[in-house]
Amino acid sequence: MQPDITIPDALKPSDGRFGSGPSKVPANAVAALAEEAADYLGTSHRQPTVQFTVAALRNAMAELFALPDGYEVVLGNGGTTSFWDAATFCLIEERAQHLCFGEFSSKFSKVAQAAPHIGEPSCISTDPGDHPEPVFDPEVDAYALTHNETSTGVMAPVVRPQGCTDQQLVLVDATSAAGGLRVDPHHSDVYYFAPQKCFASDGGLWIAAMSPAAIDRILKLSTQRWVPPTLDLQIAVDNSRKDQTYNTPALATLFLTLHTAQFICENGGLEWSAKRCDRSADVLYSWADRTDYTNAFVSDPAKRSHTVATIDLADSIDALSVAAALRANGIVDTEPYRKLGRNQLRIAMYPMIDPSDIEALTGCIDFVVNAL
Ligand SMILES: *Cc1c(COP(=O)(O)O)cnc(C)c1O
Repeated sequence: MQPDITIPDALKPSDGRFGSGPSKVPANAVAALAEEAADYLGTSHRQPTVQFTVAALRNAMAELFALPDGYEVVLGNGGTTSFWDAATFCLIEERAQHLCFGEFSSKFSKVAQAAPHIGEPSCISTDPGDHPEPVFDPEVDAYALTHNETSTGVMAPVVRPQGCTDQQLVLVDATSAAGGLRVDPHHSDVYYFAPQKCFASDGGLWIAAMSPAAIDRILKLSTQRWVPPTLDLQIAVDNSRKDQTYNTPALATLFLTLHTAQFICENGGLEWSAKRCDRSADVLYSWADRTDYTNAFVSDPAKRSHTVATIDLADSIDALSVAAALRANGIVDTEPYRKLGRNQLRIAMYPMIDPSDIEALTGCIDFVVNAL
């Protein structure tokens, strides 16, 4: 039985959404969408109104990530999970090296392993809570990195392995990192993500910043092998260049993604949003360090994610009961990642989540734990 706990309003955050994805969509973004709705929603994605939004989104991403000359922003439907399927057709030529350190990074390696048209991937693994380093291997043509492992709250550097050749692509799953963690795009050939995390939008879309080498690889592989059209990245490149997608996109998702990207750009860019995430992370991890019943799950402070935190609770306190009591008070989605199976809370600290709300959340958790 869940005890009745009422958190005083004065302790509560201004917004109670701390989920890692879908994540908080700010009310002003929804209001902006409502204001444009009559001229935008329900109009053709092959006409200038929506094409203008796609063009603005591609430009905002190029600005936000300071993409080098020749890099292109490509987008398509299906989210990151579909992008993995597409990558096995159009980016991995024969063999990839995967860094596996949690649910999401492992999932891509399993997709590559099962694909009959490419060779067995090599996987470098660590236990959850840590991350492996890529190792130069002349036998691979792609390295699959994950900037932020959302299931465990570990962030990893985006760095080309020492000795990496021009023929080897670095593919980075940045789904819960892009827009919140600093990155040097020179170190990746494909930096891909979906916008329901740092970009405070909805799911169903993938966005990828691609280097000229990645675009060359796509052209080569899509002419060499049969590729299902929805996974054909050459079709995605061709459509993106026309500020369209191959098939119908969710227009609200495009709008909300652009809204956040422009908001970040106008406020000082990636450095600004990364600093906001730094601040939230500092608030949360210092609280976890000084509170006797909490422990950051990730032991190395340098690996503790600044966008998704995992906080272990003492065995005597049931994390699911804490999350349930928070939920009953309108503070939602602090449950741990189900498959990790730890007695912990998982808390998103994406740029659109206010650091002062993270501070308020720690007060609410303390209140609930005292009351339990
Ligand atoms: C959320 C997430 C995914 C899955 O994204 P979808 O858009 O749901 O396919 C993949 N990788 C990471 C790191 C994620 O955080």
